[in-house]
Amino acid sequence: MTNSALKKLEGKVAIVTGGASGIGKETARRFSSHGAKVVIADIQDEKGRDLVESIGSHCCTYIHCDVADEQQVISLVHSTLQLYGKLDIMFSNAGVLGSVEQDILDFDVSACERLFAVNVKGMASCVKHSARAMVDKDIKGSIICTASIFATIGTDKYIDYTMSKYAVLGLMRSASKQLGAHGIRVNCVSPGAVATPMPCNTFGRNEEGIERLFESSSSLKGVLKVKHVADAVVFLASEDSEFVNGHNLVVDGGLNTLQLTPP
Ligand code: NAD
Repeated sequence: MTNSALKKLEGKVAIVTGGASGIGKETARRFSSHGAKVVIADIQDEKGRDLVESIGSHCCTYIHCDVADEQQVISLVHSTLQLYGKLDIMFSNAGVLGSVEQDILDFDVSACERLFAVNVKGMASCVKHSARAMVDKDIKGSIICTASIFATIGTDKYIDYTMSKYAVLGLMRSASKQLGAHGIRVNCVSPGAVATPMPCNTFGRNEEGIERLFESSSSLKGVLKVKHVADAVVFLASEDSEFVNGHNLVVDGGLNTLQLTPP
């Protein structure tokens, strides 16, 4: 539990999409330990409700929301306003990974629809409707979108996912230019490789197995953990970053520097 003098989000109301698992789950915990009221939005209802139970229903609520459906995002924001009266922070984090080892020569363009509906359109709906709620109540809020290190370095494996995360950066940059006039900040966090259920399910390994796989994915010793990403999100959500806008905060232990240096 964070010491009350160090609580950075006291009195704030936050939504965390994809909040039932991985990075979103850890961030929901951090937000609440920093004093925020947190709405966890996800499609994994049991996991979401279990998390509310462990954080405490006095400061945390679960709402089912498939971000790919704009109407559900509208309801999510509406319910948050009804419950807590305002919205200060949107952590738009829900995302899905496509298949691995995609080859552009055989790339199935028509198979990208669901991934784009979640990773791109879902992200846009969350930015749009949270910003509307903030503008209407004159809240100088913070919107944070989860992109990926792949939107900085590219990848030779996950074509649709990489495309979608570059789109998230584009959304963030455009929205930050427009919403700055309202005092609303929009930034991205771009995690490197972190052992959450997403890669565990994709590679059929447990957390330890994935951490071994990711061992050489940074220039630091050790592996990237969800807590490292959550700390960066708390920074972007709080007044510590009050003049940071339109920024992509890469949290990858230096993975992006592990490229060939020309002689
Ligand atoms: P995760 O699978 O543990 O969590 C993702 C959560 O999003 C899950 O709870 C899932 O149910 C939820 N979700 C999926 N589709 C949804 C939808 N349509 N509506 C609402 N919720 C939905 O994975 P994670 O690693 O914590 O992923 C969180 C974010 O981080 C994603 O945007 C992912 O692309 C990004 N990311 C992950 C890594 C990594 O290595 N794990 C690296 C870079 C970026």
